[in-house]
Amino acid sequence: MPEEREQRYDPAAIEPKWQKRWAADPKLYAAEPLSSGKPKYYVLEMLPYPSGQLHMGHVRNYSIGDALARHMWMRGYNVLHPMGWDAFGLPAENAALKNNTPPREWTLANIAAMKRQMQRLGLGYDWATEVTTCLPDYYRWNQWFFLRMYEKGLVYRKKSKVNWCPECATVLANEQVVDGRCWRHEDTIVEQRDLEQWSFRITAYADELLEGLDKLDGWPEKVRTMQRNWIGRSEGTEVDFFLEEIQGTGNKEPGTEKKRIRVFTTRVDTIFGTTSVQLAPQHPLVAAFTAADPTLKSQVDELLDQQKKAREAGDLGAIEKHGVPTGRFALNPYSGQRVPIWVANYILADYGTGAIMSVPGHDERDFEFATKYGLPIVEVIRPAGQDAPAELPFISEEGMLVNSGEYNGLKCEAAEKKLQETATRGAFGEAKVTFRLKDWGVSRQRYWGTPIPMTYCERDGLVPVPDDQLPVLLPEQIEITQQGGSPLGRVPEFVNTTCPKCGGPARRETDTMDTFVDSSWYFYRYTDAKNSNAPFDPKVVQYWFPIDQYIGGVEHAILHLIYSRFWTKVMRDLGLIANDEPVQRLFTQGMVIKDGAKMSKSRGNVVSPDDMVARFGADSARMYALFAAPPDRDLDWQEDGVAGVSRFLARVWRLVTKHAPRARSGSSGARNPRTAPTGLSLKLLRKLHQTIAKITLDFEGRWHFNTCVAAIMELVNELQAADAQLAAGEVGAGEMWELLRSLVLLLAPFAPFLAAELWEELGEEGAILRAPWPRSDPGLAREDEIEIPVQINGKLVTLIRVAAGADAKTMEAAALADEKVRSRIAGKLLAKVIVVPGRAVNLVVK
Ligand SMILES: [Zn+2]
Ligand SMILES: [Zn+2]
Repeated sequence: MPEEREQRYDPAAIEPKWQKRWAADPKLYAAEPLSSGKPKYYVLEMLPYPSGQLHMGHVRNYSIGDALARHMWMRGYNVLHPMGWDAFGLPAENAALKNNTPPREWTLANIAAMKRQMQRLGLGYDWATEVTTCLPDYYRWNQWFFLRMYEKGLVYRKKSKVNWCPECATVLANEQVVDGRCWRHEDTIVEQRDLEQWSFRITAYADELLEGLDKLDGWPEKVRTMQRNWIGRSEGTEVDFFLEEIQGTGNKEPGTEKKRIRVFTTRVDTIFGTTSVQLAPQHPLVAAFTAADPTLKSQVDELLDQQKKAREAGDLGAIEKHGVPTGRFALNPYSGQRVPIWVANYILADYGTGAIMSVPGHDERDFEFATKYGLPIVEVIRPAGQDAPAELPFISEEGMLVNSGEYNGLKCEAAEKKLQETATRGAFGEAKVTFRLKDWGVSRQRYWGTPIPMTYCERDGLVPVPDDQLPVLLPEQIEITQQGGSPLGRVPEFVNTTCPKCGGPARRETDTMDTFVDSSWYFYRYTDAKNSNAPFDPKVVQYWFPIDQYIGGVEHAILHLIYSRFWTKVMRDLGLIANDEPVQRLFTQGMVIKDGAKMSKSRGNVVSPDDMVARFGADSARMYALFAAPPDRDLDWQEDGVAGVSRFLARVWRLVTKHAPRARSGSSGARNPRTAPTGLSLKLLRKLHQTIAKITLDFEGRWHFNTCVAAIMELVNELQAADAQLAAGEVGAGEMWELLRSLVLLLAPFAPFLAAELWEELGEEGAILRAPWPRSDPGLAREDEIEIPVQINGKLVTLIRVAAGADAKTMEAAALADEKVRSRIAGKLLAKVIVVPGRAVNLVVK
């Protein structure tokens, strides 16, 4: 039965055929020269870590980006749609240990495997711009940027407390510590260690990173909120309390500086209400106090232990508050009042100054603490215009100062200014902005990362590697272990070098860079990936940036997306680029889940893309990923759903191949626009043009691709319902040509293989990707008549039909002429008629 064979939809035959053709045409998905004259469009999906296997989350992310890229190509844009590999990182070292495969080999093999999967899925990437971050032609520019930032004072080295994962045997960024545990090892509690660390001074850009968020209106609000919270700006005051002198201490000789305890507060206007000063257990003064007091020492150790446990449980915010008095006193710098010094388990050494003034009258937390330990509670703020104190704690800045000496009667805000001035004059404090954001520690004691381009000379100390000695290459053959600090430290050929300054013996830095460095600027490299003289040509970047649309998971809202914003600002200040922000519009897609849970090996609910492609074809897998849920929501993977999409594509296949001969015959004499279509032609063309209008609008911003696919399904249903009439020639050949051709064009972003095949079937030549996107004819798309609900006193009475675009008067007349309406209002007083044109008629009767 040759005819049936011909009509069978067979993705296993169609898809490899097109895959081969596309691979043979590297220009197909390539960006055009800057001089193309077309408007540019840079669409980007976040680059994957090359684990060796795509998962369904990738397929979803890339299907969204690829649909958009294809649509923009068809809209006539010069599109840049690149892909690359975030290829440094720990898993390669773990795999090396496990399988005895060198990290580089393992990584490159994984990249090759994933690239094959991407090509099999028909994703339209320009592979000529591919970026692989573990290769020297890329990471040399990490080193180059590091040196530029070092010159600018944006890189520094200091001993600091670090988060140490014993399992990874490396330092983790704060962001990589989740609930006190390693982000990679959910069961491993992160320890604190002291190490010499390289850091990027991201805090120098804290204000700008925060203010820039207001302008990023193409970003999801939730991402902007997460970044705002992460940066955590608070305005306040730093003030010194003076340590009371004690007989026999070194703090009493005349002329010596008084010892001070610096606190940070956002409410210096309440400082007269301070009834204790509280220190973090790690505060340096505490060590001095406990040195001669073993009882106090053991109490403080207990507090430390409680804090550590809460930190490990990720529950610092909810810690049960405990404290101990030290027996020492501090003096309020404004009033000279003597207040006890306490140590408390909820005061954090790494926030603010590690010390606070406790004002129980006007702070919830301080009130709780004072009540528990019987500390005095003093009123210093009173609601404006009231004679009597408010109930304490009174937490408001709408009030005025009482019990505050010369500041009595001032409003909170005015008092704050005045108190700050007094502190500045007296050199015991100042207005201060603090941030939760910390500098970005980038040192890693790992092998598989970018070597930090620094040397240590016995004579000259720290000496940067000169540009002409870049890249500092990672040695290839190296024994990987999980212990004993940096693996590079055990490679003498790497460590031992000559000093770039004096030529004498020197040691290389053996730490490598955090892999978030790689992903902070990779998307700039795509625009000029082969450049061997510079990270990129500024002219090329200026053409392509900012990225028009970036698509990825919301889990990158803080780390990657703050670091890359920081990197952009640094590059701007180095004079390399003109843009302030890297990304114009950001889209965060939902997760792919199965049976209500995230897909994971341990749950055994992983769906393999290869398996889906083998059974249903790439088009079905991709289209299902777009159809099953709105792109920003989680998608619950249902195999029946993929099979359903596959059956739908088979219907499209049969419909188009069956009527293609007749459509082809109409291609030369396309529908004459002056002859208005009627009957079935009009009905089908109207549906077509409504579908075009809807999908075009969605691509322009709403991105409800699930409803786009549904609209194409509806269109196909109408065409199929008319199958017999179409076969009988009831619709002209020119109209058939328009209907089928447009249907195939609409499918092209969602099911590129099938669309390419049917495009050819319709006798079209050239890539469908370069064919203009169909335009909706508003005249054709408009319904002749629409249904309008009529309500009487708020209750639906009937539906009337009026001409589309009918004015209010016509609608009112049609409603009042309706039989049902007439019988309902007979004998009553028509008090009011409200017409919403195109929508509804509401009558009020009495
Ligand atoms: Zn770990
Ligand atoms: Zn030297």
